[in-house]
Amino acid sequence: MKNILLLFGLAVVLLIGLTTYRNSKKEKPLVVILMGAPGAGKGTHSSELSKTLNIPHISTGDLCRENIKNETPLGKAAKELMDKGELVPDNIVVEMLFNHIHDKGYDLTGYILDGFPRTLIQAKALDQRLDKDYKKIALNLNIDEEKLIDRITGRLICTSCQTPFHKTNLPPKVEGKCDKCASDLYQRDDDTKEVLKNRLEAYNKDTKALIDYYQDSKVLKDIDSNGSKEIVLENLLKNINQKKS
Ligand code: AMP
Repeated sequence: MKNILLLFGLAVVLLIGLTTYRNSKKEKPLVVILMGAPGAGKGTHSSELSKTLNIPHISTGDLCRENIKNETPLGKAAKELMDKGELVPDNIVVEMLFNHIHDKGYDLTGYILDGFPRTLIQAKALDQRLDKDYKKIALNLNIDEEKLIDRITGRLICTSCQTPFHKTNLPPKVEGKCDKCASDLYQRDDDTKEVLKNRLEAYNKDTKALIDYYQDSKVLKDIDSNGSKEIVLENLLKNINQKKS
């Protein structure tokens, strides 16, 4: 009887040890935060990274526009501010994003965040949600201001798959139609020179604190986004892979 109890105890200890070992080896989901002014390339690079890393891309700007289109209470609260190029209040964006992540089951896969966080309050809300169970990297796309104006005012976006084009630098094969899905292209209401001024002001106002925050927590990498799409993407992937290993 004594031996059976001893064997049973040994088996339990072994099982606990094995489970703990397996859990410690399990790869933590990766959360990539893409930061940068409007037009710095967050959307374009997020879609490419999403394909390469096989994790979803979430744009809070797209979520806001979707809520506006569907006339949800959150969308109604966001519309006027977005049209002026101002930031949507933190509680609204955080609720929209966290609901989306939960509904889609993205907590398990990890994700790429495009346009979030934009304030310190949002960054802290995200950290609270992630805790220690994730690998996190913040990539800050730096670009000259003249380039931003040109990119934003010439930008065209697919109404269906959100693929971005540019009137002169990256024109669609058929005018006004998406190369990927043939849906109509449109110019965003806030992609004008006048509204861009406000958007840049809003961005610059809150960015310094965010950069300091991520620098202090040693997760920030600065990326020069003036070069070609391919070079910037390569640089982004290099930094992400270093974080993963
Ligand atoms: P974007 O598509 O990232 O350029 O965002 C378009 C607009 O959506 C911004 O100018 C804001 O009005 C709103 N928005 C998107 N993400 C956020 C965010 N994280 N915090 C506050 N407002 C946001």
